[in-house]
Amino acid sequence: MELKELQRHIMTLATLEESEAPVVSCYLDLETSGYRTVLSERVHLLRKTFPTAEKRQDFEAAVALIEEYLALGIHRDTNGLALFARGGSQRFFLPLQFHVSVPNWIAVGSLPNIYHLVELKDTYHRFVVMLSAEDSTRILGVNLGAITQEIWDRRPELRQRVGRSWTKDHYQSHVRERTNQFLHEGIQVLEGMMLADGYKHLILAGNPRVTSRIRQALPKQLAAMLVDIVHASAQDAVSDVVRATLLSFIEQEEQESLAFVDRLQEAIHTDGLAVVGARASMQALQARQADVLILAKAYCPDPSWICAACEAMEVETAMPNRCPRCREPELLALDVKETMVRLAEQTGCGVEVVNHSDALMRLGGVGCLLRYLAPDQYHRRAA
Ligand SMILES: [Zn+2]
Repeated sequence: MELKELQRHIMTLATLEESEAPVVSCYLDLETSGYRTVLSERVHLLRKTFPTAEKRQDFEAAVALIEEYLALGIHRDTNGLALFARGGSQRFFLPLQFHVSVPNWIAVGSLPNIYHLVELKDTYHRFVVMLSAEDSTRILGVNLGAITQEIWDRRPELRQRVGRSWTKDHYQSHVRERTNQFLHEGIQVLEGMMLADGYKHLILAGNPRVTSRIRQALPKQLAAMLVDIVHASAQDAVSDVVRATLLSFIEQEEQESLAFVDRLQEAIHTDGLAVVGARASMQALQARQADVLILAKAYCPDPSWICAACEAMEVETAMPNRCPRCREPELLALDVKETMVRLAEQTGCGVEVVNHSDALMRLGGVGCLLRYLAPDQYHRRAA
């Protein structure tokens, strides 16, 4: 799947209107053999949580959609599956297959749970691999861990050294020249593909003799996008090379996430455009002030609630008996992480998921870089 396709699906899920029927969000890790058991155990347990026959019926309808899809057969390259299903009068079903795996995780709620999709998008997004040898070039577009684009080229056969008409030196310089020309043509194709499709990251793979020549010949713009150089030989399977570049890319992506934490800290130090903590981050997202939401993978917010009647919400505060705003008694537990990610996707705010950062955990595990200050923040600071 292409990244922009996933982005489109995330938007569909993030803007889905609530209905009476529950949404089942089902992530399955097909790399493990036990995903079937996990699914049936979770369904068995969730089934018992519905108080009315009507709700339970809607839930069963959603589960039936999932079961039907699983029975149809999954593509054999699929390692991760995300299914979103709802029964009732406003039926909804969206299945997504991925080359990379996702954790087994099945939940039910009034809205789809998109956090794992957003994490996937942030971790794996997209890059280009140029796998080169002296006589062949492969340019691969890798989206969400799978090859989605491939351009292959082979250098035309070289003239054989004939009799004595060519000296050895003459022949070798001919080979060098033709190889150089071939590599340069490859770089031009690479540049065309990266710029046309908006790729921002490049990994070179191949024999170090060749990759170092390519590196030196890269135009400035591409050189700035170079993430890593991976050693590979012409005999390696393309899938192995892609796996190696994927690991390198994930590492690079984590470095980029940590750079966002640095920017967050820096902005906090200088009283700049940033907020940290659940409450302030939620407010910034709701006011559309947030530019990037930075979230620790281990972030686990304290219980929070939302009023079913007036949608007032309180983050990391114990649930009162009644809504302090409208006095209605029906208050619901609020999934803060999910709500933040949904708001971010709805408003075009970037999301960075950080694997390990003590600095971010000290700041409460979550923060936002802001586009601008709200007027009251500005006046307070100016005063
Ligand atoms: Zn209320």
